[in-house]
Amino acid sequence: MDIAVIGGGIVGICVAAQLAETGRQVTVIDRTGICEETSSGNAAALAFSDILPLAHKGMMANVPKWLADPLGPLSIPPGYFPKLVPWLYRFWRAGNFKKFEASLAAQASMMKLAECEWMALMERSGTLPMLREDGSLELYEGDAEFQASLPGWAARDRFGIGYRHLDRAELSGYQPGLSDRFTAATFVPGWKTVSDPKDFGKAIWAHAERQGAGFVHGDVGLILPRGDTVAIQLRQGRTLSARHLVIAAGAWSHLLARQLGEKIPLETERGYNTTLPPGAFDIKRQLIFSGHGFVVTPLATGIRVGGAVELGGIHRPPNYARSKAMLEKAKQFLPGLKTGGGREWMGYRPSLPDSLPVIGRSKRNANILYAFGHGHLGLTQSAATGSLVRDLVLDQAPAIDLSPFSPQRF
Ligand SMILES: Cc1cc2nc3c(=O)[nH]c(=O)nc-3n(C[C@H](O)[C@H](O)[C@H](O)COP(=O)(O)OP(=O)(O)OC[C@H]3O[C@@H](n4cnc5c(N)ncnc54)[C@H](O)[C@@H]3O)c2cc1C
Repeated sequence: MDIAVIGGGIVGICVAAQLAETGRQVTVIDRTGICEETSSGNAAALAFSDILPLAHKGMMANVPKWLADPLGPLSIPPGYFPKLVPWLYRFWRAGNFKKFEASLAAQASMMKLAECEWMALMERSGTLPMLREDGSLELYEGDAEFQASLPGWAARDRFGIGYRHLDRAELSGYQPGLSDRFTAATFVPGWKTVSDPKDFGKAIWAHAERQGAGFVHGDVGLILPRGDTVAIQLRQGRTLSARHLVIAAGAWSHLLARQLGEKIPLETERGYNTTLPPGAFDIKRQLIFSGHGFVVTPLATGIRVGGAVELGGIHRPPNYARSKAMLEKAKQFLPGLKTGGGREWMGYRPSLPDSLPVIGRSKRNANILYAFGHGHLGLTQSAATGSLVRDLVLDQAPAIDLSPFSPQRF
């Protein structure tokens, strides 16, 4: 093979699409299929304005309150805590002023590119009809919560991100039927969503296939660099060989990087949701309940209620009491919400402690590239990641400075 990509999630297929468009021969290898795991059930947002690294003062202030509620926005299963300590330490350090500012600037440059690359790739792939451009509403319960959000909006001001604060009277016009407990909101016009992340991912893949990309069903067990090529051993027994390899295996990527001698502090922030049938409520645009750590998204396929973070690793079974708890809250926030007939889901956000993805070459072998760790923003940043990986493979100058995203930064 010329280029092999491990991982058929949204990141892997965007890498494949961007490379196949240049005429290169690309093969995606996945053990499940195209967009069948975390990229299938997310909240569908192209959150271009979401540039704040997660470790910041406003967020940290909420942590004790959140952890006190076992089904609240943030949880850590006690048995997993010891394993998590090194990651949590790095996360806490990422919140110091200098590191926070550096990650903020890097994230802002990535988001500018993300928006350009998505709009262009949707145009080329004929997927623009799957885009909703109706913005988002971030909702606040009381003045204290609204005031606490202001430093975050001021940080966005510095990068030219548009938004408008709304009082209660205006808010009703943007989303009728909300509980009176919400006293203010911020409307972000540049926030976009897609009709359904799984359908959207499959449509992007159809475009990649039309450009010549291929698919191999297989579970990669071993990666062995051999001179100018890389051998890729599948657990099914077959061995493939490629000139270039891109590791885009989401929350499992660090297991493959470790085989190359690179220890990358990737954790998973597990997230939950419930997708209700279409018509469960007339949601006008994505609603963000930041204080409760979840969102409600109108999809072509239903109404998706969910979010939350569970730092519980890749092996524990899902705890769907978390999906139920968010649905219960959503019913209080949108009293007319019909909560029957929902489908529960859990996904594994692949997360680095500084909230930035890893995009760059392996130090062991320049023909092996990493593209993973997009955390809460993998859908948003995947087309940009695809273009950056394409530039590295083609030995072209990437559109943005890649040093903040280096796999060797830890
Ligand atoms: C509740 C929730 C809501 C979210 N909402 C949003 C949102 O609104 N907007 C946004 O931008 N992001 C959102 N995200 C984050 C986003 O979903 C992820 O960042 C993104 O899906 C990660 O994509 P990926 O391609 O890196 O990983 P994945 O989608 O997990 O794909 C990785 C693939 O690699 C394969 N794989 C792994 N190991 C191997 C192996 N050894 N051999 C073969 N195949 C392998 C897996 O089978 C999988 O298909 C959300 C996440 C969650 C959980």
